[in-house]
Amino acid sequence: MPPLSDPKGQPDLKGKFDQATRDAIHARLRFYRDLGVGEFYRREVDPLLWAQPQPEQIPIQSPVAPQAAPEPPAAAAASLFPQVNAPYDQETAIAPRKPFPSAPPQAPPVPPEEHFAALKLIREEIGDCTRCALAKGRNKLVFGDGDPNAKLMFVGEGPGADEDAQGLPFVGRGGQLLNNMIAAMGLKREQVYIANVVKCRPPNNRTPEPEEAHTCSPFLFKQIDVVRPQVIVALGQTAVTYLTGEKRPLSGWRGRVHPLRGTKLIVTYHPAFLLRDPNQKKHAWADLQIAMRELGLEPSARK
Ligand code: SF4
Repeated sequence: MPPLSDPKGQPDLKGKFDQATRDAIHARLRFYRDLGVGEFYRREVDPLLWAQPQPEQIPIQSPVAPQAAPEPPAAAAASLFPQVNAPYDQETAIAPRKPFPSAPPQAPPVPPEEHFAALKLIREEIGDCTRCALAKGRNKLVFGDGDPNAKLMFVGEGPGADEDAQGLPFVGRGGQLLNNMIAAMGLKREQVYIANVVKCRPPNNRTPEPEEAHTCSPFLFKQIDVVRPQVIVALGQTAVTYLTGEKRPLSGWRGRVHPLRGTKLIVTYHPAFLLRDPNQKKHAWADLQIAMRELGLEPSARK
């Protein structure tokens, strides 16, 4: 079954629905995404089924019309609901969800003075990558940015338009907000490491398809194993889903510390979501305070 694009992906509904219906569908998909539901599937039905003759309309009896002899109950029901289940009986079954491939085993630690060179090797291994469909639409591959020996690492979903143009993660409006979040923790951007689940921009900023994320995420795991931060902050649903291989609503992850590859994982909202709903910033700040506690940073460091 082909998945419907998520709200960021702006599913191609043109020509299928009028503008009002398209707007309503986009709004509903955006609502579900903000709740942490990121994938939607449509059940395909053979169009020929809808070409079948419709059940005959039951004529409304006039009060003065002569009454027909009553049918036996079973026969009456059959005549009232002829073929009503036919299209549903013939629907194709929804394929079971593919299990997440397990993350690669953790690589042995690299001496701190070799982190920079080790990250460079991973970048070289990626090369001019065409391993997944996202290669087609990218301008610049966005590998990662920051201190190779960082104690804190942020993981996002994938590059947007600004990132694709500059080849750096989180440099657009969301990046500005992330910089502010880092500053509020009493750190500079150069002191943290930032990377994404996928390194090439998905078309129209849609959520990466599982195939794309699974193809690209092994490089992210390699980056994590080299940097070995004390704390990883996953920014949003896609990041935590592909870091952990487990899909659950963001509310099921936030507010607690989770073990991940020898580090501590903390989950908060993606800056793009915080730009759409600034009321959630206080909750994101609470998440960042958990990270600060784990890093031994003082909450009073907020500026
Ligand atoms: S998203 Fe990752 S796997 Fe896909 S083309 Fe880009 S670098 Fe390669």
